Amino acid sequence: MSDLEDVPSVDLMSELLRRMKCESKPDKRLILVGPPGSGKGTQSPIIKDEYCLCHLATGDMLRAAVSAKTALGIKAKEAMEKGELVSDDLVVGIIDDALKKPSCQKGFILDGFPRTVVQAQKLDEMLGKRGVKVDKVLNFAIDDAILEERITGRWIHPSSGRSYHTKFAPPKVSGVDDVTGEPLIQRKDDTAAVLKSRLEAFHKQTEPVIDYYNNKGVVANLQAEKPPQEVTSEVKKVLS
Ligand code: ADP
Ligand code: AMP
Repeated sequence: MSDLEDVPSVDLMSELLRRMKCESKPDKRLILVGPPGSGKGTQSPIIKDEYCLCHLATGDMLRAAVSAKTALGIKAKEAMEKGELVSDDLVVGIIDDALKKPSCQKGFILDGFPRTVVQAQKLDEMLGKRGVKVDKVLNFAIDDAILEERITGRWIHPSSGRSYHTKFAPPKVSGVDDVTGEPLIQRKDDTAAVLKSRLEAFHKQTEPVIDYYNNKGVVANLQAEKPPQEVTSEVKKVLS
């Protein structure tokens, strides 16, 4: 409690206002599915703020584990560098833990998970134990041909996961995160060559996940090749 004394009043007030606004929001449990570069990470912070959800991106979590050289990171590194999927057990474990966070109380956005039908089935089991289910799966539909330019021009702020693009979403100052002023980096796997394997994994292993949720009647298809603001409008329409 004493730590709160040192928090500036303006920060306390804005957190209080945020929590009051969140009280009236309905719970939402969302999955974002789409190939690498389809815009999931760009739309997530907007949806997260609008509906007071937690944003769980397995790719971001795995990259943090790789750079911290944890046991999880050591196991995941090789597959990630090759653009292949890491084992189902590794990612299911991190999602199961992450869902316990207080920030997930009003629901969640799963970004990049589930990526296999086995992961989707395990997620259903996890949610079933908590007495809840997935409300909506947002399918970021986009032609493969558009993705190379998006991926090779992407710059990210590693600690927040914020995405920028040299052409489509440049930061205010080149190479620097707008919010923190920290340096941006390019992901090691954001090359045309690794993208090929990542797309192969998407079509073979992740597209069946869309069918899995189609059978449950919860998929909303988005035209993800449109400009970011138009995709945001589509998302808001689907979630309203
Ligand atoms: P994902 O999380 O699905 O891999 P990102 O949201 O990181 O994709 O987007 C990939 C790249 O494309 C980023 O550099 C981002 O700034 C850019 N981008 C995202 N959405 C759009 C869009 N609708 N139009 C053009 N560029 C976009
Ligand atoms: P992303 O940041 O979503 O593009 O993910 C980067 C890499 O992390 C992928 O190419 C995979 O190697 C790994 N990864 C992320 N999420 C998953 C998942 N749900 N299942 C398996 N591998 C994953």
